[in-house]
Amino acid sequence: MNVPLLDLKLQYNSLKPELDAAVQKVIESQYFILGPEVEKMEQMMNSYLGSLNSLGVSSGTDALLLALMAIDIKPGDEVIVPTFSFFATAGVVSRLHAIPIFVDIDPVTFNIDPKKIAAKITPKTKAIIPVHLYGQSAEMDAIMEIAKKHKLSVIEDGAQAIGVQYKDGRKVGTIGDIGCFSFFPSKNLGCFGDGGLVTTNNPELAERMKYLRVHGMNPKYYHKYIGGNFRIDALQAAVLSVKLPHLDIWSAKRRENAKLYTELFRKHGLAEGSGKTLFDSKNKVLLPHSVYQGSGIKNHHIFNQFIIRVEKRNALKKFITGQGIGNDVYYPVSFHEQECFKYLNQGNDFPVANCAANDSLAIPVFPELKTEQIEYVVASIAEFFEKHEASQPMECRHCDCMK
Ligand SMILES: *Cc1c(COP(=O)(O)O)cnc(C)c1O
Repeated sequence: MNVPLLDLKLQYNSLKPELDAAVQKVIESQYFILGPEVEKMEQMMNSYLGSLNSLGVSSGTDALLLALMAIDIKPGDEVIVPTFSFFATAGVVSRLHAIPIFVDIDPVTFNIDPKKIAAKITPKTKAIIPVHLYGQSAEMDAIMEIAKKHKLSVIEDGAQAIGVQYKDGRKVGTIGDIGCFSFFPSKNLGCFGDGGLVTTNNPELAERMKYLRVHGMNPKYYHKYIGGNFRIDALQAAVLSVKLPHLDIWSAKRRENAKLYTELFRKHGLAEGSGKTLFDSKNKVLLPHSVYQGSGIKNHHIFNQFIIRVEKRNALKKFITGQGIGNDVYYPVSFHEQECFKYLNQGNDFPVANCAANDSLAIPVFPELKTEQIEYVVASIAEFFEKHEASQPMECRHCDCMK
């Protein structure tokens, strides 16, 4: 059986007439950049997110860059980021000649560990960028408290988490000063190319970002700030306006798939515990844990990725790839180990991220997956363990993060 990691054609086919009509309408208008389609999408985002000011931008990366420019990050400023995320989270900091300061992650959520932030704050620290990795909120209360105490801005990287609710029900991206989202096709809400969004409840930041999006220009050819071209296309906005009303249904399907995975891994005797569990004979697979589940909110986790942890990750990866199962490693190299960040000399005291880079694996969880496909994935992983039965007890080889 073939189980791709993601199959975007299925989603497209389910909305083909509406999407084709929306794209055609833009083509006929010949109005391609910003304009009414973009404003409509931004209004829809405001009401969906519960935010006052949403602005469509050219990508998730540009959303982060624009946000940092809006809070006036300058060369030499320090910005705290988790060491374990997609490159853009730290890359944008360096592009402004500021310094990304890496912080280790929490072993259960893979999100920045708030307990480890304070030790990294210096007089140069200006902001924190928590990432809501894989579709679950970072621990925002603790992060906002630290930010308030040290007068730091908080830029949320919600690229993998649009619609996700924090434990108090608020949507991520509306808790910090600015929220950033990506509409890269493989995100939970994807457009037909690159696209992104910044959102804020602060009217001054909203105005700055609006100008910075078009070279800091207002009125035409008069430049108050040095901005860039961070504009989104009308075509992308039109696609997003069609898709947004379906997002919560897709997220619910991802959660159902995650639930089925959990049941099946238990049934096969591969994962008994939940949350912070050690590898042992009854927990050969560590499953994702939704920490805000049960707090009465719906989108506690939207599973942009379903991440399992296994000791012999590379061997398992090879095995299931051979079985026709799509999978990937997000992310094999943390920021503190990236070649381009070696100059920062931030050491290797990131035990939890080092473990995650070695033992995590994403398996298919997209909304249109069929029950048989999920059953096949779990059966294949069970087969792997039968064939590669480890005699020695499983432990984290890198640290005591599982204890
Ligand atoms: C995808 C992603 C980005 C960048 O978004 P693009 O639209 O690809 O530029 C930033 N941060 C995280 C965590 C992401 O997953």
